[in-house]
Amino acid sequence: MAQNSKQLEAKSLLYYLARSKTCIGDGIFAGADLEGGEPVTTLKRPLIASLESERLKDTCANCFVWTEGSSLGSRLYVKEGTAVQACAGCRRFRYCSRVHTRRLPMISPTHNFQACQKAAWNRGHKHECKNLRPVGDKEIPKAVLGCMELLVRRKHKLIDDESWIMLQALDSHIDDFMQNGKYPGIELMAMGTSEFSATQNTFTKEFVAAMYARILSNALTLITPTFDPLGILIDPLLCHANHSCEPNAYVVMDGAQVQLRTLREVKKDEELYISYIDPTNPFARRQSELQERWFFTCKCIKCQQTINSDEDEWLIRPTAMPQNIKEMADMLLGKTDHEDEPANYVGDSAYERRAAAVQGEVFRLHEEAQRQADPAEAIETIESALRLCSQSLLWPVYRQPQPALRDNLIVNLLAAGKHELAWAHCAKRHRYITPKLYPQVYHPVRVVQTWQMAMLAQYLASTGTEVQPGVDMAVIAAVLIKAVTESAKTSHGVDSAFSRSVGEKYQEVETEILAKFGSRDVMESAVKAQERKMKEMGDMAEF
Ligand SMILES: [Zn+2]
Ligand SMILES: [Zn+2]
Ligand SMILES: [Zn+2]
Repeated sequence: MAQNSKQLEAKSLLYYLARSKTCIGDGIFAGADLEGGEPVTTLKRPLIASLESERLKDTCANCFVWTEGSSLGSRLYVKEGTAVQACAGCRRFRYCSRVHTRRLPMISPTHNFQACQKAAWNRGHKHECKNLRPVGDKEIPKAVLGCMELLVRRKHKLIDDESWIMLQALDSHIDDFMQNGKYPGIELMAMGTSEFSATQNTFTKEFVAAMYARILSNALTLITPTFDPLGILIDPLLCHANHSCEPNAYVVMDGAQVQLRTLREVKKDEELYISYIDPTNPFARRQSELQERWFFTCKCIKCQQTINSDEDEWLIRPTAMPQNIKEMADMLLGKTDHEDEPANYVGDSAYERRAAAVQGEVFRLHEEAQRQADPAEAIETIESALRLCSQSLLWPVYRQPQPALRDNLIVNLLAAGKHELAWAHCAKRHRYITPKLYPQVYHPVRVVQTWQMAMLAQYLASTGTEVQPGVDMAVIAAVLIKAVTESAKTSHGVDSAFSRSVGEKYQEVETEILAKFGSRDVMESAVKAQERKMKEMGDMAEF
């Protein structure tokens, strides 16, 4: 797209592409000394984005506003009443409607959601809409839809040469896919893609298969401003960002706009790395995920320490595990092969193999809980996993998957209406886990978790719940919202919809609190007292 290359030119001082010193192929390098939390580049939108099948139903396929699933107002940046309507042609993609236009009777229904639909139509949907119609309701994988859009737009000259060449510079990993036996599946998908997109006469079978493989192994996650995954994105520039488990950059989205921002100070000519996986996982799990999906052995600073970094720390030596856990581990060793999975590797001794078996079981429970749609069921699974961690005495609270289990527990407790218990886990996370895993106050995960906690505090304040004697949830909410207001400027940028919604909320809350206490001095001392209370509440949760 012309837009993309213009943006490339304008921002070329802050970054450049060059041969990576650590990975195969090119990487993105800092073109100047950069502070932490600085935007490196801002793209109006990624070249291609493709929503999960689930999200196609409730997310605008143009601006990616996710209209459902907001919990307790943590996605305040989504305007109230935002809804999506299906494209009348293919009925597959949905576009958002603006509330104010829907209230005007003189505007016909087809004009309700014109802006987003029109933009998507002109960007290329007009060339694929009719091809999608005969497919009906049949599910199409997101990588196929993304690949279709790519081929159709190129065929109709809606993707410029520069972007196209940059895309093809990405590794297709065809040999790796042949080796792991996935190539026949890729060929099949590529055939379908050619057919649906009616591009058989423009691109060869092999070309489409390579492009499809490239999408599978290079796509980044499409996200909301609060980091909820929505699908995949493919962009010739951003997909050149290489991986590190100790990343110095991250991708953040504001609607369709996508930014690469620094996570710490970066010197000129340093390579910029993002993380493809959860970098807080233990060494063996990171390595096996990267090997399986991206076909490489990570040699980043953290991985060079192998199992000697904090991510692999145990609270006690496996040899000191309690008798009942040892017995349980022995039972697992007979029943499962957790201990032989590369991702669970802890060490070769008998006790380390027992620890690996227990770890494998905890990760298995974590995955099971993620698949459970019923909050009550998920809560039960998660609590049994957390109990196992705690009884084994092995797990520091920040060792995975304990933090991930707790994150999921909070989500499910909120869904089940168990707000006070959710609060106890938020308070624990806030005190002991978040600062350890995300040391920068502007780390986007830290900002979003703090925001989620702030919104829960506000809810508890609104219902008048007395979580503990002497606790004033309204003041705690204000403290947390203020912290997010400050850090969001750096994590998301001052002008982002997220920062704006947080800022508006803070003004509202501050006015209320000031009115309640009468003066700033009285308010400040109340704030200090409540900050202490919040810290204490970090010890309320059972696990
Ligand atoms: Zn939209
Ligand atoms: Zn359509
Ligand atoms: Zn690594």
